[in-house]
Amino acid sequence: MQRIVVLAGGIGGARFLRGLKSAAPDADITVIGNTGDDIHLFGLKVCPDLDTVMYTLGGGIDEEKGWGRDGESFAVKEELAAYGVGPQWFGLGDRDFATHIVRTQMMGAGYPLSAVTEALCARWQPGVRLLPMTDDRVETHVLIDTADLAGSDGAEEQGRKAVHFQEYWVRLRASVDAHAVVPVGADTAKPAPGVLEAIAEADVVLFPPSNPVVSVGTILAVPGIREAIAEAGVPVVGLSPIVGDAPVRGMADKVLAAVGVETSAAAVARHYGSGLLDGWLVDETDAGAVAGVEEAGIRCRAVPLMMTDAEATARMAREALRMAEEVRA
Ligand code: GDP
Ligand code: CA
Repeated sequence: MQRIVVLAGGIGGARFLRGLKSAAPDADITVIGNTGDDIHLFGLKVCPDLDTVMYTLGGGIDEEKGWGRDGESFAVKEELAAYGVGPQWFGLGDRDFATHIVRTQMMGAGYPLSAVTEALCARWQPGVRLLPMTDDRVETHVLIDTADLAGSDGAEEQGRKAVHFQEYWVRLRASVDAHAVVPVGADTAKPAPGVLEAIAEADVVLFPPSNPVVSVGTILAVPGIREAIAEAGVPVVGLSPIVGDAPVRGMADKVLAAVGVETSAAAVARHYGSGLLDGWLVDETDAGAVAGVEEAGIRCRAVPLMMTDAEATARMAREALRMAEEVRA
């Protein structure tokens, strides 16, 4: 049985995983999920990327939005707002709230996030083993100019301040420049139980079209994970989240700029580097980037990379596995 390890963020990772499951129905898939986006709201621990993977693979996702529960209502949020209790900018629905209540309750009882995630997955049956990258608290912060907030926020003092990733992404919609992206706590975090073992036992490691900075980059920032992948001696193949020099959805260009990486499929491949990446798939639109990526020592091919439907996504997964075979040969 083929053992596949996937480093996943939220929507891009989750949708790709759905394609991978149909492309390789008999494979044993372990997902290492990003927890740098986690946030405490209303006293509850919210793990947006883990939940997006769990709901998407478990059949509970809001397909249109790509995150949150299907058939959602927002009565709790409205009641909280009536008390003047926010934030209003983060959309937690009633059904979703239950997940966060269960998670927070279990963590309060002393269970680590990995055990809680396993318990939540017992309901959702995602068909993969979903592991948080770490059980330790890691929180991605984004450094912005306070002057950029004037008007929107009333801030007048000049200088820089760090805001939580969700505040940057959801509240500010990445409308101001990011000067740095810091996964606070990552430097002392330990990989969650099973993470290093899964990598060591993998036949192939895949980077789905997830955000290279705040999703895959954050997972790689946990000491030991990057090293384990590089040392596993198995093909590592990625799929570009950048198509035609722009993110397919979202604002990845803003956080790529913060780490000095151009928004292009080739620049993201070079950012991961040939020390980590063996193969890289770019969209057909970016066929012109193939030669440059290969010059950097990374096998590269242009194929359709738009996850428009289940079959298109499964084809992407098959291409990634095919490239892994070529690397191995
Ligand atoms: P997030 O945590 O919800 O932001 O999700 P991820 O980090 O997993 O993925 C976000 C990335 O997925 C974005 O940078 C998008 O450009 C990329 N993405 C979304 N849909 C597609 C698609 O259909 N094709 C490709 N190639 N990338 C996509
Ligand atoms: Ca995310």
